[in-house]
Formats: sequence, structure tokens, C-alpha cells
Amino acid sequence: VSEVYGRRIERVHQRMEELEFDAILLSHGGDLPWLTGYRAMPLERLTLLIISAESDEATLIVPALEAPRVARHDDQFTVVSWDDSENPLNIALGILQTTKKRKMAISGRAWAETLLGLQRELPETRFAPASLVTAPLRSVKDDLEVECLRSAANAADRVANEIRTGVIPMVGRTEVDVARAIAERLIAEGHQRATFTIVGSGPNSASPHHESGERVIGPGEVVVCDFGGEFNLPGEGYGYCSDITRTFHTGEPTAEVSDSYEVLREAQSAGCEAAREGTRAEDVDSITRSVIADGGYGEFFIHRTGHGIGIDEHEEPYIVEGNPTLLVAGNAFSIEPGIYLPGRFGMRLEDIVVVTPHGPERLNVADHSLGILDI
Ligand code: ZN
Ligand code: ZN
Repeated sequence: VSEVYGRRIERVHQRMEELEFDAILLSHGGDLPWLTGYRAMPLERLTLLIISAESDEATLIVPALEAPRVARHDDQFTVVSWDDSENPLNIALGILQTTKKRKMAISGRAWAETLLGLQRELPETRFAPASLVTAPLRSVKDDLEVECLRSAANAADRVANEIRTGVIPMVGRTEVDVARAIAERLIAEGHQRATFTIVGSGPNSASPHHESGERVIGPGEVVVCDFGGEFNLPGEGYGYCSDITRTFHTGEPTAEVSDSYEVLREAQSAGCEAAREGTRAEDVDSITRSVIADGGYGEFFIHRTGHGIGIDEHEEPYIVEGNPTLLVAGNAFSIEPGIYLPGRFGMRLEDIVVVTPHGPERLNVADHSLGILDI
């Protein structure tokens, strides 16, 4: 696996050259594990991977107490650890002394104090976001990454099925109880951790990012469940994310609920079908949106159609109006339209889709129909 990281560092080098960056500085977030296999804890202490354009060396500066976790792929980069009595910024500056300093890229997830310190010491340098370099590379998944996303999606699908079949009961429980049960099942099905669990019942289902609360789920209600976690690559200390939404109804739904759900389902399916090589990201959004608009619910679909997914839950490409990026094989993202009638009910249907040379592949295959739960 080490060679994978070596190849990625090489690709970062090439892109830095194209964009004329003299160095790239990466910290917390998905870039670091993608390039080193090491996921930094979001400590206040400085963690920085420095790749200089003019040398083949990559250097990872880590707090001494984190160094034991880094060791596994250190044939691809040099590890410099610092202890709490040192000023790590000086270590970074020492490494950067050897490079030209006109133009550097720094991770958007680096602490502002790191950037401010560098700007103070390197007043001549212009800084740009590292995502200019890394995001287009990371948004094209290789086979290993797609396989891990697929494993994550399969595990999330199993949990969705457990809700549908009543293994995770709903009626009579609070949203937060159900959310906790979903999180436990995500881990039982192979995730290392559950990242989020949204359970919105009754009128709460109309709030897309509802925070699960003490509301008791009753009969005759719509319940939106949106959840996901991180599923580790075999043998690695980091992984890829799952993210799925299914909408349920406790008992038989009204005609209004089932009719609007059919519009939603048709829109989501059109969005998945549109996820093909050479299509603009924004066109996938508009194709999905137009089905909902034609169904009469246009004003109630109040967010973008989807987001890329990988090591980070949300990453490029964003499936949103104004993003002209052409999709390529290896792109992985959610298609998750919703309809939200304020104060009444809402619904969302979300799958992760991968663009392949043979067309779109839905990684989530759990039943897409409105889940009717026993009351
Ligand atoms: Zn989601
Ligand atoms: Zn999502």
C-alpha cells in the first residue's frame, strides 16, 4: 500500500508544477491520510506535511506524542517530531528555508494561527488554498477507494434495512433513542465510527439537518433517517465515509405523502441516471431539480442535490448550480433531493453514486420506496 501514497505524492508534485506552487502545506482533514495513511487528531498542536516543488522529499511534522501512529508508511516521507517545549513553526520554517517562497498552497483545514505565523515570517509569500492542488486529484477515486466506499455503503444499507424491517423499532421511542440505535448498528455492521445520525419525525422531518431530540415518534408520521460513518480501509487507520437517507412512514401514509414521495423518488432516480462521464455537475443538479419542480414542489427543495464523498463526508465534486465541473469516471458523490413542507412533513432520498466508464453505479441499493413501518 505504501506505493499508493508514493504515487499520490508524485501526482501532487506534478500538479504543483502545473500551478507553479513552490510548496504545499497540509494539515488536518482528508488530504493528510490520502497522502500518508495518517489521520491527524484535530489537536491544537501543529501537524504539517510539507512537500516542496524542488525536492523529492516530503516531510511530516508531528507532535512527538503522535509520532508512534505515523510510522507505517514513513518510507514515503520523513517524519520530524517535536516536543511540547519546542516551537514547531520554527521547524516548518527551517524546512521551507531551502525552497523558493513565492507561492505556497496551504490546507483550508490548517489552523489560522499556523497561517498567520507563516505570513508573519514569510511576508513575500502568497498563500492559496491547497484544495486547488488536491481536490481534483482526490475527487477521482481509484479501485481501492471505490471498494472501500462500496463496503461502507453496503454496511449503511444493512442498517437501513434493519429500520425497514423493524429490527430497529421506531414508534413510541424518542428520536434520540432511535438515532443512538442507528449509530450502534453502524458500528456493529463494520464502521469504525458513526459520524452523524439524523432522525427527524413528524414536522421535524421538514428540517433537513434536524438534530434528533426528545420528541416521541407516533403513528401516522413521516420519519427521515440520514446517517453515515467512517469505514476503515483494511489495515489502515483511516477510511471512507458512508451517507444514506431513507424516508419512512409509521403506518399507512396519506395520498399527499405517497404522491410527493413518488415525485421525490423519480427525481432521485433521474439524478442518479444523469451521473455520467462528461456531464456537468450543475446539470445533474438541474435534471434532479426539474423533476421536483414539474411535480409542483420546486420551492420546497431547498438545498443542493449532492456532495462528493470520500475520506471526508463532504468533498468535491459538489452537485450544485454554478459548478460546471465535467464528471469523470471515479467521481463519487451523493444524489439526495428532498421535499420539505415547513411545519408539516419532509422527505429525502439519498444514495452514493460512482461514475464509471459504463455509466452510473449506485453504491446504495437498499429499498428506495417509502418504508411503511408497523404501528
Ligand atoms: Zn446524508
Ligand atoms: Zn449527504
